[in-house]
Amino acid sequence: MSGSDSFILTYHSLDLSGSVISVTPETFREHMRLLAASGRPVVRLEEALTTPGAVALTFDDGYLNFYDCALDILEQYGFPATVFVVSGRCGQVASWEGAAAEALMDWSHLAEAGKRGVSIGGHSVSHPDLTHLPAAEMRVEIEDCRDTIRDKLGVSPASFAYPYGASQEQVRNAAQKAFSLACGARLGVLRTDSSRFDLPRIDIYYFREQRRFQDLLAGRATAYLILRNSLRTVRKRLLG
Ligand SMILES: [Zn+2]
Repeated sequence: MSGSDSFILTYHSLDLSGSVISVTPETFREHMRLLAASGRPVVRLEEALTTPGAVALTFDDGYLNFYDCALDILEQYGFPATVFVVSGRCGQVASWEGAAAEALMDWSHLAEAGKRGVSIGGHSVSHPDLTHLPAAEMRVEIEDCRDTIRDKLGVSPASFAYPYGASQEQVRNAAQKAFSLACGARLGVLRTDSSRFDLPRIDIYYFREQRRFQDLLAGRATAYLILRNSLRTVRKRLLG
């Protein structure tokens, strides 16, 4: 990786729990300060594929702590971002497997975030692993999510993120019919041949410490990315 590589960062919850999908609000604030200082262009998701050295910011699940802790900071720096929402759970407390037990934004929060420059993307209706569902249910999770966001916010969402990053060909085909791009969870930088329906991202979990985050921004994280990817592959194999 180098300074001219572009990548998509994934945040979930900004809270103090120390969970694997959480960073503290202070860490997030520091990340945005370092990102601004790095001089890298921070762009909308769809622009990241064509802008050298760019960073796109994504937030999965639509936690209310995005509204409370991130929105002002993003606005202050003029950074665009995409929030992927679970359309059947807005306004509730997240309770699917692996969730931070935190409140989720309701539609009025999402409408305001949208007015303040945040793109709202889809993340299914109920956050299942789409690869484990019968085809008809899988398609409903993708299409109803898009339709609900469009009906509630008056804007058709352009992007989707697979719950748990999990997809296979059939799931990607369904996403392709409903959205113009989709993010997976494969750890990596964007390549010219990256699939628009399984875009690699960089989960902030691996880079939440300041030094690691600075290395990433400086394009010095190649060895670490390869190491983390191989560990994830081993872990997946062990889990079957
Ligand atoms: Zn999620």
